[in-house]
Amino acid sequence: MSFADLSLYPILIDRLVELNYQQPTPIQLRAIPIILSGKDVMAGAQTGTGKTAAFALPLLHHILSKRTVPTTPEAPNTKAVISCLVLVPTRELAQQVQSSIEQYAKGSDIGCVMVYGGVSIGAQIQQLAAGTDILVATPGRLLDLLRKRTLSLSQLTHLVFDEADRMLDMGFKDEIVEVLKRLPSARQTLLFSATLDDRMLSFSRRLLRSPQVIEV
Ligand code: AMP
Repeated sequence: MSFADLSLYPILIDRLVELNYQQPTPIQLRAIPIILSGKDVMAGAQTGTGKTAAFALPLLHHILSKRTVPTTPEAPNTKAVISCLVLVPTRELAQQVQSSIEQYAKGSDIGCVMVYGGVSIGAQIQQLAAGTDILVATPGRLLDLLRKRTLSLSQLTHLVFDEADRMLDMGFKDEIVEVLKRLPSARQTLLFSATLDDRMLSFSRRLLRSPQVIEV
């Protein structure tokens, strides 16, 4: 099966051809159709399996499907609202995920901003004020920004946990619970984790609704 068989937008397929992705990896083959169908997913996948594209491509597909065509060429660009949030445990992973998303979104007008702790918050607040479709965030900094009311997640439709086991290992559970209280409950949630042990299964019950479980 090829990427074209997965019914992704042609602009995304063209990017994958340019990137020389010849065929989907097993996690992509299994996860992409389920995510496109709107169901929650819990996936056990290590780094290196192509897990980032497995969630990023359906997010981009969703955003493209919601884009409205301006009625007149002069119509002002409306500010993008955050529809997709990707939570990650570390700054390094935030950078990797954002760079992958930008790579796949190249040629479109889709924006992706990242925020993480340990650096000044001011520049991040400014970037968010300009609007973005996708936000990649570490839990602590995201919570700071939400408490300061410097961003709104009221339009969120998709929430992704990347490396969820590392987030628990690093003690982010309470922050995640606080973030969840501030998100719309009608949303699609995707959880990726290297391990799906009892701890992860019990935590996932608070996050996911009747998820499809995928292990590769
Ligand atoms: P990840 O598991 O998301 O960290 O991805 C590992 C690496 O595989 C990244 O460098 C991706 O660019 C690359 N990659 C992801 N999917 C594919 C694919 N279908 N074909 C070739 N390379 C891929």
